[in-house]
This record gives sequence, C-alpha cells and structure tokens, in this order.
Amino acid sequence: MTKPRQHHHRFIIGTILLLLSLDSAPSISAHFFPNITSIPEDLLKNTTANPWGFFQQLAGCHAGKKYDGLAKLKHYFQYFGYIPNSLSNFTDVFDDNLESALQTYQQNFNLNITGQLDDQTVNHILRPRCGNPDIINGSTSMNSGKTNNTSSSHHIHTVSHYSFFTGRPRWRKQALTYWFLPENQLTDEVKTVFSRAFDRWSTVIPLTFTQTDSIYEADIRISFFAGDHGDGEPFDGVLGTLAHAFSPPNGRLHLDGDENWFVTGDVRTSAVTSAVDLESVAVHEIGHLLGLGHSSVEESIMYPSISSRTKKVELASDDVEGIQTLYGSNPNFNGTSAPPVQERETGSGSGGAHCVHSRWGLTGLIMASCLAFLLL
Ligand SMILES: [Zn+2]
Ligand SMILES: [Zn+2]
Repeated sequence: MTKPRQHHHRFIIGTILLLLSLDSAPSISAHFFPNITSIPEDLLKNTTANPWGFFQQLAGCHAGKKYDGLAKLKHYFQYFGYIPNSLSNFTDVFDDNLESALQTYQQNFNLNITGQLDDQTVNHILRPRCGNPDIINGSTSMNSGKTNNTSSSHHIHTVSHYSFFTGRPRWRKQALTYWFLPENQLTDEVKTVFSRAFDRWSTVIPLTFTQTDSIYEADIRISFFAGDHGDGEPFDGVLGTLAHAFSPPNGRLHLDGDENWFVTGDVRTSAVTSAVDLESVAVHEIGHLLGLGHSSVEESIMYPSISSRTKKVELASDDVEGIQTLYGSNPNFNGTSAPPVQERETGSGSGGAHCVHSRWGLTGLIMASCLAFLLL
C-alpha cells in the first residue's frame, strides 16, 4: 500500500469517525436537580407544558367525522409505529387508519379496545414516554404481536410480553464500555445514577459495564440534547418524549436535556409536576441498548411510558426473561426478580443508558461496512 493511499484512507476513516460522533454538536448542559423540591419554580423549564396536551381536546371525537388537530394525532401514531410510514398528507378526518391505530394502541397498553378516543385512551396518549416506537418497521411487537390466549379459561395466561428489535440484534461481547458526552458536564452524582442503572441489568446477565473517557473505545455513548440534535428524532421540550436509544451494536443513548431531571431523593414528593426520575428512564433505555423492545406489562421496565413524579427502577420478571433470552443468566443470579442493587459512592463502574433509533442503526451499519471495506 502506498503512502498517499494510506493518507487517503486515514482521511476517509477520520471523516467517518467524525460523522459517527456527530452527536457532540448540539449538546447542552442539562437540567439536573439533586433535590428538585428546593429549586424555585421559576428556575425550572416550563413546568406545566406538555407537547401533547392539545390531544386532550380530541377526547370524544367520533369515527367518520372531521376535527381540527386529528392530523397531528395521526403523526403521533405514525411516530410510534401505529400508522405506516408509507402514508402521508394526513387530514383531520377520523378515518379507518386512525381507528385501526387506536385499536392496536389500546391492545398494547391493555386498554379497552374501542377504536375510539375515549378518556382513558386520551389520558394514556398524554403520558410522557420513550421516543422509541412500539412497532418497528411495521413488524408488530408488544401485545399486538403476540398470540392472545387469554380467552381460554383452561390455561393460565403465560404469554410473555417482552419484545426484541427486528432480527434480535445483541452485543457479541460481554465487557461493554460507556462514555458520557463531556460537554454535558455531568456530576459524579448523575454518573452514579447511570452506574446503578447498568448494575440492574448486569445483575441478571453475564455482561459488565465500565465507564471510559474515550469515545473511540466506547461501546455506549450517553448524551443529553435539546430539540433537534441531528438524528432526525428531535426532542420536544418538557415531557412528551423523554429519551431514545438505539439497538445493538449502535450504542447511542440520547436524553432530552429540557426535562426537569430528578437525580436523588423521593421523586414522588416533588412539588414540580414535570419532574422525571432519571434512573427510571436510564434503566429503560439501557434495556433498548441491550436489545429489548417495548413490553405491554405495565410493571415492566420496558413499558413505554412513565408518568412524571414516578420511580420505577426494579426489573420485573418480564424484563429478566426477555434479557436472559438474549444473553443467558448471570451465574450469580438465582432469582426470578432482580435483587436490590447497591448504591455506589462514585460515578465509575457499570452502567449506561440508551435509546435506539432504527434509522441510526442502519446508518451505523452502513458506515461500519464502509470502514470494513476501506480497511481491507
Ligand atoms: Zn423505550
Ligand atoms: Zn437522538
């Protein structure tokens, strides 16, 4: 290989690495509150805002009729996989596509399957949630993709509800590293939250998670961003989508820097209605990073939505069964539910959260292919 050619390759590889690290561009210093109750209300971000609050007005709309704003709701359902991406130019008419999306959504969230915008369904739609879709690339997951045998009174309902990404991608090595975007200037306290979140998964499967300061060595990259941050899935301010993560082996976990993230203490007693528990969201997104999709089991970590001022950090048996299907059991794990995780005093150790975007997964795959080709 000649020298100029080597330089050429280095330039191209450097460009690819630069593109892969694009998420360092629009970074922000996120809002963290060690004790959110002590923060004056006017220092918090739009505490009453909800990007989906408008949908409240759509309760009671009927099929076949036209209502201002229904097109927006169709975009919501398309974003989360309930209306095919092939459809566009949505109108404000309550059409068959919307009715079908509602029925599938209601099935996935264990609501009464009415196909209507009843109060129970609308209230569910308003809940803050993970930005990852419930149905990926049109293939079903959650309840709507399972065989339903609950109608049989002769059998105990044993259908599992966990799901995977298309093709069941998973990590092919056991020692994973994670990295925090330096521009976010996270405190040790915040890093410890992620460390604890990683521990909850490593307790039940034979994987380890170690923090690294090198983005080039990192398997998992954790960043807080506000609004549009370059991956086609912009965040939406307070509440709405909270975070998203990519499937293995992409390793990206993005969290909405505009949330009022609650770091320590009892989030349930927070006076701030929009306080979101960071560890709860981190544990969920790590599930995506490791290969889990969403689950219909409301107690599970992989359930798509979480109300503000709520803490849910313990893996449910559904989560454990799902992740052990991918990686097997940690030899030291001998229970059906995760044992308590010990809190750590420093930010180092195992841990890391991530949300998966199939679009970025594909981009990463293409880039990795280019890199492999160039190195040959
Ligand atoms: Zn999710
Ligand atoms: Zn993102």
